[in-house]
Amino acid sequence: MSEPNFSICVFCGSQPGNQKEFTESAKQVGQWIAHHGGQLVYGGGRNGLMGTVADATLAAGGRVVGVIPRALVEKEWAHTGCTELHVVETMHDRKRLMAERADAFLALPGGIGTFEEFYEVWTWRQLGYHNKPIGLLNLNGYYSPMLEFLNGVVAQQFMGPWQMDLIQADTDALKLLPSLVQSAGLPIQFKSESI
Ligand code: AMP
Repeated sequence: MSEPNFSICVFCGSQPGNQKEFTESAKQVGQWIAHHGGQLVYGGGRNGLMGTVADATLAAGGRVVGVIPRALVEKEWAHTGCTELHVVETMHDRKRLMAERADAFLALPGGIGTFEEFYEVWTWRQLGYHNKPIGLLNLNGYYSPMLEFLNGVVAQQFMGPWQMDLIQADTDALKLLPSLVQSAGLPIQFKSESI
């Protein structure tokens, strides 16, 4: 298999959530990554949206790098179909390796694990530890209350607007994905056919 054109680290729920659009969108993300010759980097689980995005990438012929802590191999059902599955010792090792392997980050709907991963890469970016684009898929307004809260944080001067500008939020995965890859400065030509 040839080298991927780009690597996107996707953070998302280990649960599927309660709307069919969550699963549909996770599939679309995996298909888009594969279609454009990219590679998915993710937490290596088989459950929920995590499993859906990995399955969709693999089914469309894309590469998948899974990174999972040993203690979670059974709990999250490590995905044995990954192109590369890295079993690491700690959650910190997992996040470090995922961050190293990614050109950009994208958070889909998820729970506190997803939030933690999203906020970590955002705080690292504000401190200049990396310069990789960060996307937030606000599917069906899932993240609207959080974005509203964050705008309140700016209004109350616990952060500046420039920090909000470090993340890209969009309701449409097919707009967000190319924007993230382009912001990462990768010279790739997207295929014109859909997905
Ligand atoms: P969740 O969004 O809670 O369903 O979790 C999604 C992913 O985040 C799962 O792979 C979890 O293992 C992972 N996760 C959970 N807690 C943490 C944490 N403290 N730091 C990083 N990742 C976490």
